Amino acid sequence: MLLQSPGQPLRPIELERPAPQAGEILIAVGACGVCRTDLHVADGELPDSKLPLVLGHEIVGTVVAAGLNVRRITIGDRVGVPWLGWTCGSCRFCLSGRENLCVRARFTGYTLDGGYAEYAVADARYCFLLPPEYDDVHAAPLLCAGLIGYRALVAAGQAERLGIYGFGAAAHIVAQVARRQGRRLFAFTRPGDVEGQRFAQDLGAEWAGGSDQAPPEPLDAAILFAPVGALVPAALAATEKGGTVVCAGIHMSPIPSFSYELLWGERVVRSVANLTRADGEAFFRAVTGSPLEISVEPMPLLDANAALDRVRSGRVRGAAVLVPGSG
Ligand SMILES: [Zn+2]
Ligand SMILES: [Zn+2]
Repeated sequence: MLLQSPGQPLRPIELERPAPQAGEILIAVGACGVCRTDLHVADGELPDSKLPLVLGHEIVGTVVAAGLNVRRITIGDRVGVPWLGWTCGSCRFCLSGRENLCVRARFTGYTLDGGYAEYAVADARYCFLLPPEYDDVHAAPLLCAGLIGYRALVAAGQAERLGIYGFGAAAHIVAQVARRQGRRLFAFTRPGDVEGQRFAQDLGAEWAGGSDQAPPEPLDAAILFAPVGALVPAALAATEKGGTVVCAGIHMSPIPSFSYELLWGERVVRSVANLTRADGEAFFRAVTGSPLEISVEPMPLLDANAALDRVRSGRVRGAAVLVPGSG
């Protein structure tokens, strides 16, 4: 499924099967998750995407060919391909353990072709071998919703009372990890989304309400998955002194001005950008053994436009996942 220009629907197109170059693997895609970031790329809210482009950065599949100099991964392995597709290894960020901020980074399904396809190529060094407890469809959302959600959770620090704004794919995974860590969970959905609030409570939130409501007690940290800038002052107002508000999305509507009083008391507002390979290793260690319950809505690859619409309208409970060859 090909994005030819932003704002246009994706079009089904027969492309030649890509050939893996040195260091790359060719993957027969088993499943590819649909992330809100895909919407921002498709809508042109993120600048300078590759065009035409195959979207999708939560790819799970089987390696069917490998270029020269591929190590660690061999033909037949099941791998996951995340958002971070390539880094330079030599900039000041790469050299200081912050490859997520690499100035020359390339991203899967944005500046590199991704996984809304039957085949994908990827630089093997950035792929993960996946825990067998998750089948392809259930593993796909781990690769961004899970992984970047996990980075956001780490950025929230030791917070006991954790607020989550926007209860979609990432939140439903992070909520389960947070509960396992013994944190108390407070979920904020679109006002009136009673079904979403019930979903959050089923996953361990002790309170769920609309994002226009105040939680029953102050939060120690909040993670914003919803791309709504007005939630930043709202979350600060709900957060205790010393607490952190983490903005986890790649794009957000403008943040309205707010009184310094909301920030005073050593509250912190920060963002989380991309991921490092070390985040991925830590996350997969955390979710292996006793698997998380991943809620998915599998859809045929050819229904990619409908899947994007469902994510846009917040109707997906958990994560939408595209499956080639189904339907
Ligand atoms: Zn994503
Ligand atoms: Zn770099």
